[in-house]
Amino acid sequence: MSLFENTISQMRQAASIMKLDPNVETILSTPHRILEVSVPVTMDNGSIRIFTGFRVQHNNARGPYKGGIRFHPEVDMEEVKALAIWMTMKCSVVGIPLGGGKGGVIVDSHTLSALELERLTRSYIRAIAPAIGPTKDVPAPDMYTTPQIMAWAADEFSKIHGENVLGVVTGKPLEVGGSAGRGDSTSQGGIYVLEEVCKTYNLPHEGTKVVVQGFGNAGANVAKMLHDNGFKVVGVSDSRGGIYCENGINPDATHSCKLDKGSVVECSGIGGENCKVITNEELLELECDILFLSAMENQVTAANADRIKARFIVELANGPVTPEADVVLEKKGVLVVPDILANAGGVTVSYFELVQNEANFYWTDEEVQERLKKIMVDSWNNVADLAKKYNCTLRQAAFIAALKRLEAAIKLRGYN
Ligand code: GLU
Repeated sequence: MSLFENTISQMRQAASIMKLDPNVETILSTPHRILEVSVPVTMDNGSIRIFTGFRVQHNNARGPYKGGIRFHPEVDMEEVKALAIWMTMKCSVVGIPLGGGKGGVIVDSHTLSALELERLTRSYIRAIAPAIGPTKDVPAPDMYTTPQIMAWAADEFSKIHGENVLGVVTGKPLEVGGSAGRGDSTSQGGIYVLEEVCKTYNLPHEGTKVVVQGFGNAGANVAKMLHDNGFKVVGVSDSRGGIYCENGINPDATHSCKLDKGSVVECSGIGGENCKVITNEELLELECDILFLSAMENQVTAANADRIKARFIVELANGPVTPEADVVLEKKGVLVVPDILANAGGVTVSYFELVQNEANFYWTDEEVQERLKKIMVDSWNNVADLAKKYNCTLRQAAFIAALKRLEAAIKLRGYN
C-alpha cells in the first residue's frame, strides 16, 4: 500500500464505525488540487538546475489549506498527498479553523550552500505563489525546512505582492512575525497529551523509561522536555543509528554533541560506560514504557510490530505506524497515541501565528502555552471519550473526531 492508501484506509475504518455520510467520504478521498512545479535554481558555479516541487491542497471546508513544506531527496507526490490529508484531519481533531495541504521539493538540502538554499526557496515560492496566501493556503516548516527558510518564503511572497504578507507562511523566526512557542510547539503539544495519558493510565514520571526515535526538531525537544519532567530517556536515534544508555541519557548534552559531531551515534561516550551504539531497528525494539516516534513515516510495520516492547507509542512524526502494524499493536495491548492528535501542537501554534500576523498584535509565551495546553487537553478528552463511546482505538477515535467536524462543514457549504 502507498502512504496515501494508508491514510485513506485509516479514514475508511473511522468512516464505517461512525457511519459517515458516504458523499463526505467520497469528497475527502481526493485532494482538491495538485500542483507539480519546476523549480529552477542558479547554482553557485553558474549552472542551472531544475528541481521538482509539489503542493497538494486536500480540503478547505473548515478554512484555508494548511501544512508544511518538506525538502527531502525521496519526497514524491503520493507522500505529499498522504501528508495533506493528514493535515486536514489534524486541524479538525484540534478544532482549529484550517484545512489541509502539504508541499515538498525533491532535494538533499545538505548538499546546497546557504545561498543555493535561499534561491531554491524563493524559486519554489514564486512557482506556487498564485495558489498560496493567508486566506488560501499557508505553508510551514516540515522535514529539513527551518524558520530561516520560512523567512525567505514570506519575504519572496511579500515582494511579489508589493506589501508585507507575513501570514503567507508560519513557523517564521520571532523577528519577522513568528509566534512565541512555535519552535518547540510540536513537542510541547505531545507532552501536554502525554500528561493526560499518564493521568488516565496511572503512569508515574519518575522511573518511566522512554525511547525517542528521531533527534531532529521534534525528537530533540521532546527528549529534553521528558528529561526535565522526570522521565528516564534511555534511548535516542537519528538517521545514522541510535544510542542506548541503561542509566539514562542527558538530552541537552546529547543535542550539543550531535550539533558538534553530526550524529547521536558519536555521542555514546558522554553517557558513560553503560551506553552503547545500536541500530535504529534495535532502538525500536528496546525494553521501555513509552516509545516516541519522531523520525518519519513507516517505521513500525507488519515486519517489526510484534517485537515492540513499549506499552505506549506517541506519534510525533506523521504516519510512523502502518495500518497493518496498528492491528498487531492493538492485539498486543500497545496504546498508540495517533499523529493527528499527538503532533497537532505544531499546527496549532501555526494557527496562533497566523492570527497574530493578521491582527499585527503579538502574544506572550504564557498566552501561547495557556491556549495550546487547553486545545491539546480538550482534544485528548474528546478523542478518549469517542474511543470509549465507539469502543475503538485512539486513532479511529481521532479520525472520528475530525470527520464529524468535516462532515458538518462540508454539508453546510454544499457539495457543488
Ligand atoms: N509540518 C507540521 C505538521 O506536519 C506543521 C504544519 C503547520 O504548522 O502548518 O504538522
